[in-house]
Amino acid sequence: MNREQIWELIAQPWDIIVIGGGITGAGVLYEATRQGFRTVLFEGNDFAWGTSSRSGKLIHGGLRYLRQGKIKLVWDSVRERERLLRELKGLVNPLRFLLPNYRGERVGKWALGFGMIIYDLIAGRRYHRYLDPETLKTFAPHIRAEKLKGGFYYLDALTDDARLVLRLIQDAESMGGVALNYARVEGLCRARTGLVEGVIVRDLVTNKTIEVRARIVINAAGVWADSFRVQLGRNPKLRPLRGSHLLFPGWRIPVALGISFFHPWDGRPLYILPWEGLTLVGTTDVDHREDLEVEPRIQSNEAEYLMSAVKYLFPFLDINENDVLATFSGIRPVIGTGKKEPSKEPRDYAIWDENGLVTVTGGKLTTFGVMARSAIAKARRRLPEPKPVKIKSSIKNHCEEFIHLDEDLQMRLLGRYGEKVLDLIHSTKSEELENIPGTSTLWAEVRWAVEREKVVHLDDLLLRRVRLGLQLPQGASVILERLRIIIQPVLGWDDARWQKEVERYMRIWNSAYSPALIKE
Ligand code: FAD
Repeated sequence: MNREQIWELIAQPWDIIVIGGGITGAGVLYEATRQGFRTVLFEGNDFAWGTSSRSGKLIHGGLRYLRQGKIKLVWDSVRERERLLRELKGLVNPLRFLLPNYRGERVGKWALGFGMIIYDLIAGRRYHRYLDPETLKTFAPHIRAEKLKGGFYYLDALTDDARLVLRLIQDAESMGGVALNYARVEGLCRARTGLVEGVIVRDLVTNKTIEVRARIVINAAGVWADSFRVQLGRNPKLRPLRGSHLLFPGWRIPVALGISFFHPWDGRPLYILPWEGLTLVGTTDVDHREDLEVEPRIQSNEAEYLMSAVKYLFPFLDINENDVLATFSGIRPVIGTGKKEPSKEPRDYAIWDENGLVTVTGGKLTTFGVMARSAIAKARRRLPEPKPVKIKSSIKNHCEEFIHLDEDLQMRLLGRYGEKVLDLIHSTKSEELENIPGTSTLWAEVRWAVEREKVVHLDDLLLRRVRLGLQLPQGASVILERLRIIIQPVLGWDDARWQKEVERYMRIWNSAYSPALIKE
């Protein structure tokens, strides 16, 4: 369905309207559609535009939450990790981790080991082991050797966060769900009783507005969720906390496994991950006091904090600011409890049913399934008897059609495109099944995205459908001309529109993703 067709369809009443197309909203759309509810999702920017394309990409239990006694959060997260590893192979992949243990650190071997045991008990499998310093160094030869006592080996999982959102939306759409990007919810419609019974939506492409009704409105607008609650006279509850990351070319900080370690300045846990051919370093946790309508960006003190951690952990790699390929920052929707230190704020999710508006926020990328199921359960009494949809599992039967591809590539495509993988392969010229040089992304994925994945702007393509804007120098500007040949005919952009899109994309990239930001 194209935008016009979707727009005509949405005027009818729905069971559920979802506000927000990040992981939380996409999870609700998927789960509600699967349970048989007629559901539509409105995203005011692009799908995954918010925090859900700017996370640490980990599908993880969160070892650090054990220290805070957050057993329920870790329980949910580890169980979800195991489920996603089973159900979304190729998109959610196991990631082996090292946690080096240095003399003088605040958290010692026994406390860490206790956490590891609980982690494995929840998963129902033993993944962890303790390594002596020599063995640990064979896995991570470049890490600091001084005062290294040994360390733990354990398992978590890694994903492409924006693709996870898109996969949920794609699967929900195949079951009859509807999702529209650049459809901003501008207000809530309320009955005389005060009960929320719909929303006013503006199509940012045509500037048209429309009122859409539903039995339930689920507010999954992440850090922006309070803006709807405030319209109902409720007090804001969210504390926006920014986290920033640095991306390095993989060859510059070569890591085969994830490394979890404590910052030498304040003992906060950080991670260094191999992701999409890059090395990702994160993250910070600071109050975000800037305007929420402006794309978040790394601040120089955050960059200094992350760079010092990298230099500390890899003292002989001679890393400096010029090695950074890209940066990005996201804002956590954290339920504020008044803790002085941002990192001490709990990462639990919350669900509030206020005047018929069900808000689901907080939580983590990892826990989207639990959040979605709980939000729908909360709204259940105002919904009709569901007719669960049978999930098709036809993909495996057709695997032989792309068996000629490299096994990792098969998994990548299966994970990202699910049951659409065969359509993608059949609609692709064989030369487009090649990687874009320097990345793990195929030219075919670019074509598929512009043809089938509701790309409205160039930044939708380069920052979220594929991640070329993060993977290649200068936001992938060197391949823009080659991309233009694919994009212009499909999207019907003339040269003037192309130029405007390039300017818009470079403006966004320079203001929120550029490595130059760390020097400002
Ligand atoms: P968002 O992704 O922000 O989505 C909300 C959406 O609502 C946005 O796209 C926005 O455009 C839309 N919206 C807002 N207003 C409107 C409107 N008026 N109309 C329509 N749409 C609207 N979790 C993990 O599990 N693992 C990690 O490794 C991890 N790392 C993280 C690292 C950082 C730095 C941060 C900040 C978070 C991290 N998290 C991680 C947490 C996780 O990323 C977030 O909890 C999650 O992405 C929040 O998703 P969301 O859908 O609730 O919000």
